[in-house]
Amino acid sequence: MPGTAHGIDYLLDLNAKHAKAFKDLATERRRYRGEHPTEIAALKCMDGRLHLPVMTQTALGIIQPFRNLGGKFDLGWPFFQNIIDQWVQYAISRGRHCLVFVTYHYARGDVHRGCRGFNYDEKAAKDAAVKLKNQFISVYGKGGVVPVVCGIETDLDALVLHGEDDDTVIDLANIKHSSQIELEELLYSLYPTMPNRIVNDMMPLVRGNIRHIAEIRATNRPAADAEHKEWVLGVGRGFDWLHAINTAFIVGPFDPNLSVTIETAAKLLKGNIDEGRVDPKGVVLLTSAVYRDEAGPEYLLAKEKGLFLSNFALNIIKEKVPDLYPHLQILTGCTDMDTRKFEVIERVEASTV
Ligand SMILES: [Zn+2]
Repeated sequence: MPGTAHGIDYLLDLNAKHAKAFKDLATERRRYRGEHPTEIAALKCMDGRLHLPVMTQTALGIIQPFRNLGGKFDLGWPFFQNIIDQWVQYAISRGRHCLVFVTYHYARGDVHRGCRGFNYDEKAAKDAAVKLKNQFISVYGKGGVVPVVCGIETDLDALVLHGEDDDTVIDLANIKHSSQIELEELLYSLYPTMPNRIVNDMMPLVRGNIRHIAEIRATNRPAADAEHKEWVLGVGRGFDWLHAINTAFIVGPFDPNLSVTIETAAKLLKGNIDEGRVDPKGVVLLTSAVYRDEAGPEYLLAKEKGLFLSNFALNIIKEKVPDLYPHLQILTGCTDMDTRKFEVIERVEASTV
């Protein structure tokens, strides 16, 4: 059984720490933004091992995460396209470029440490990422919004960059001690039409990942640590304060088949309990909705959304994964995106374990 802290108090403490760090880093983030203005999004699987700020050693709030089972998305999904388009319009209104990491994941050491959302089929996951990238290109053109396909290899936490042609692939685990100029050449060879601005703003992530891979290698992380140990099922948005790797399955509200995604995540969580990888006493259903404007209806709507999503998820779990239900502690709230502070609306400790 892992000896790490679990449960609601741990989560609230983690949020308080990160809200403080987020505030303390405001000046640093503004400076970074001044130097690297490109808006960066990452479309990712809900898998708790995929934490890009950790993997790229990037401050919180720089990479905007979007999560769904398998990292599957479709720009035809009504809610997803709204959110993406708002994000793009926000960037355009500030004269910024957009970089979208369209990701899939796998593990080099064992196919069964790969993506459950694609039944461990790396090729299918990759093909879906290429298709989604092409959807972005056909909608937003090749100018201000640049999608790149990126594999996330979880044994070494390495980014695997696919070039514009989809076939040229650079595994950052194979890049060592490169100079700035060598890395720039590498990115320009992968992405010949990428604007300079985006290349410059992608560079810190690439360098950060190369540093992170070296640290993972130096610690000789056992493969067991690269296996699933998630003990939180997060539903909703605003979870980037959950700044701990391998902690939560996060299901965004984007997929029109949300109930299926929640069911799958609940089954994976139950699997982690059954296989003894997590403490069944500390398992949490965490729901969050986001807002920025505390004075208006946006805040009140976020509260309603949080409560709705929590009940929605709970009903699916009761019906489809009833054995998980008795283990669940419930934490429902909303997250202020300006401060990353999570406000508790409802908190229920598990009663029967
Ligand atoms: Zn996955």
